[in-house]
Amino acid sequence: MKIGVVGVGMVGSSAAYALALGGVGSELVLVDHNPKLAEAHAEDILHATPFARAVRVRAGDYGALEGSAVVVIAAGVGQKPGETRLELLGRNARVFEQVIPAVLEAAPEAVLLIATNPVDVMTQVATRISGRPESRVIGSGTILDTARFRALLGEWLEVSPQSVHAYVLGEHGDSEVLVWSGAEVGGVALEEFARQSGKSLDEEVRRRIDDGVRRAAYRIIEGKGSTYHGIGAGLARLVRAILTDERSAFTLSTLTPEVEGVREVALSLPRILGASGVLRTLEPQLSPSECQALGHSAQVLKQAAVELGF
Ligand code: ADP
Repeated sequence: MKIGVVGVGMVGSSAAYALALGGVGSELVLVDHNPKLAEAHAEDILHATPFARAVRVRAGDYGALEGSAVVVIAAGVGQKPGETRLELLGRNARVFEQVIPAVLEAAPEAVLLIATNPVDVMTQVATRISGRPESRVIGSGTILDTARFRALLGEWLEVSPQSVHAYVLGEHGDSEVLVWSGAEVGGVALEEFARQSGKSLDEEVRRRIDDGVRRAAYRIIEGKGSTYHGIGAGLARLVRAILTDERSAFTLSTLTPEVEGVREVALSLPRILGASGVLRTLEPQLSPSECQALGHSAQVLKQAAVELGF
């Protein structure tokens, strides 16, 4: 199956590399505003495939996306010095006004996977521009935050993160909500698992894990300018789930009719992902303070979308 990646900067090219190494799909088409960049990445990634899987990789224009089952959208512009967040959002919305119709003209059946940040607002923008059902315009949302939460809990409790079920909901950003109340390990509630393991989950431990999840992107950006390997691997994982109609639960951002009283807002909730996109949205059981935090996150995102005119 063909997969498109539009915008092959750091995030898009990392996603393409992860897709190729993982043998996800049979053909990868890379598109960028800067065709030389797309061609260079296509050639470089193609040279990795003899060491991995037989995936065809090429650069192309929008027409080359024809027949794609999934198109990852990672196109965007960086923040200029002195530019406000809203001005940046406005410029990225204009990029999407150009990119989304061009993708859909070539690949009207494709599921759109949005990675451009701030991903929740950009998912709302993409959904509005596309006119597609919200289930087929999916933001990567808090998949990485959830992965970090599981990894840090697993490390502290000395258990594989695969066996830790814990989710981060809401904004992929400062207002995100770590759902401690519903976390569990192997079917045992987190508190009880920690008690049985002789591990503390006091305020100090929780604060440390919360900070590890919430501040991870800031630390990585400080060290190397931007984050891309983690999200690249996460995007490849989502594409695989779509291509195989896997029906796994991920914390994904889609335009949602109502969240804690806030209407029409894109943010992350646990959602079942399959061939036609998001098949179902789950209603997580939250504590009163988590509900309140999710409502706040929804308000922050809604306000940004309204200010932007979406
Ligand atoms: P990130 O770190 O989020 O990947 P980058 O700036 O590295 O950010 O990558 C963004 C990519 O999006 C760049 O390669 C840029 O050329 C591309 N891009 C910007 N505008 C458009 C557009 N209108 N169409 C296609 N690609 C675009």
